Amino acid sequence: MLNNLGNRFQDIFKKIKGNGKLSEKNIKDALKEVRLSLLEADVNYKVVKEFINKIKEKSVGEDVLKGINPGQQFVKIVNDELIELLGGTNARLTKALRPPTVIMLAGLQGAGKTTFAAKLAKFLKKKNEKPYLIGADVYRPAAMKQLQVLGESIDTPVFTIEGSKDAVEICTKGLAKAKEENATYAIFDTAGRLHIDENLMEELKNIRKIIKPQEILLVVDAMTGQDAVNVAKKFNETLNIDGVVLTKLDGDARGGAALSIKAVVGKPIKFIGVGEKLDDIELFHPDRLVSRILG
Ligand code: GDP
Repeated sequence: MLNNLGNRFQDIFKKIKGNGKLSEKNIKDALKEVRLSLLEADVNYKVVKEFINKIKEKSVGEDVLKGINPGQQFVKIVNDELIELLGGTNARLTKALRPPTVIMLAGLQGAGKTTFAAKLAKFLKKKNEKPYLIGADVYRPAAMKQLQVLGESIDTPVFTIEGSKDAVEICTKGLAKAKEENATYAIFDTAGRLHIDENLMEELKNIRKIIKPQEILLVVDAMTGQDAVNVAKKFNETLNIDGVVLTKLDGDARGGAALSIKAVVGKPIKFIGVGEKLDDIELFHPDRLVSRILG
């Protein structure tokens, strides 16, 4: 997970911590390397620019240079700014005052939406919640069946209308059923497409109107880097999402999406997917990810 970036940063930090005293030139050189490694990690260039400027502001002052351990201080500044870049505070899921809390998942095909629906249900079950899954992906032929199989494996009810092409009807009936069953969470797996198109957005808006979600979570594939960021930007402009689920972070050595999304889209990452198994889900803690990548 973000191994390339982690290794680069570790090298830069080792070098700068090795210097007892630091000159402005040392810091400038280190900043240049930080900048390069972020660009190599496919982080959005504007985000990199702002990031570097912030660190520069905080680290070239007298305080750092004359401090007891300037290298260490520089490392701490970068560390703190990385946490900020990832969203700062830990994300939370909103809870409805009256259950069920409605969570609507959106995203492009293959991002890991259906898998995440089941992961989230399992995650909630462990917290003694009663999730209910609604499969409304009427475009990907296998999606509904896939959700049913996953639901069975975690002993969670799944509502779908097989053969139906009417996602709005599925969602309406599914929500009624979730209420009937006294579910505490109703998780809606909506359709994805290979690309964003008007019909998809229209359908999602219609679903949103009916189910009135507390949370619209956009599922994006971390391995697609800046594409994931652009997808998130577009979805957010149309749907006003509440947060992002970043899947396949286990296979992402670079980290461009993870480090750009909050700054570009303005919405926090709430969950990460770290593998194909249903337990491979984590609530997103920026500080934990940073300490994981910085070793
Ligand atoms: P959907 O089209 O968005 O519903 O995508 P799926 O849920 O079917 O997932 C597409 C593929 O990505 C499947 O092979 C999943 O096993 C895989 N996948 C989903 N999440 C993760 C993850 O966090 N890590 C890894 N390595 N694979 C994942």
